Amino acid sequence: MIGALALAGAATAVGAGAPAAAAPGAEEWPASADAALRRLLAGNARFAAGRARHRGQDVDAVHAAAQGQHPFVIALGCSDSRVPPEVVFDEGVGAVFDQRVAGGIVDDAILGSIEFAVGEFAPPLLLVLGHERCGAVSATVDAVESGSRAPEHVQSIVEAIRPAVEAVRDQPGDLVENAVRENTRMVAGQLVHRSRTIRRAVRSGALRVQAARYDLDTGRVELL
Ligand SMILES: [Zn+2]
Repeated sequence: MIGALALAGAATAVGAGAPAAAAPGAEEWPASADAALRRLLAGNARFAAGRARHRGQDVDAVHAAAQGQHPFVIALGCSDSRVPPEVVFDEGVGAVFDQRVAGGIVDDAILGSIEFAVGEFAPPLLLVLGHERCGAVSATVDAVESGSRAPEHVQSIVEAIRPAVEAVRDQPGDLVENAVRENTRMVAGQLVHRSRTIRRAVRSGALRVQAARYDLDTGRVELL
């Protein structure tokens, strides 16, 4: 079971990432999951070291991408203002097909958005990016521990994250940190389990689903 690999914990990279067809107008884009990850982690290393190049963030890049987009990575992450993928990976216009929602959770609209991108752009990598001290995870920990409900629609986010909190509740260490990691891994697994489109792409070797964690203190991304 491919999805079970993701849910097992350690093995959160799902799929082999065979080369995809180069997108017209994006010849420099990485064509495999490995190459995409190398590019993103190199950009993150530049960002964290204060050496970001900011390529693709000017109006020339806007013009170059105006007639069509060919993102090489789909990202699902948190809405947190401190974790914008293009910034922390030193990428620019047209590189990342973003989904951001508090806690980086999965729902039908998020799945539809990702399925659209998989079908339209066939990028080699789907990155699930959790982050340190996530407020949505903290709110879920508070709700679980107090037995209270979060206000109005915030409760739907709490319900989505609750299984991750409950899964690590008895583990040693910081509960929010453990739940951030568990939620990110669970989301990576859910993407594969809940979507036939994503599952097919993973099984064919065209797409890898990779969980990762962003460190607010250092600006560094680690793979989970
Ligand atoms: Zn967050």
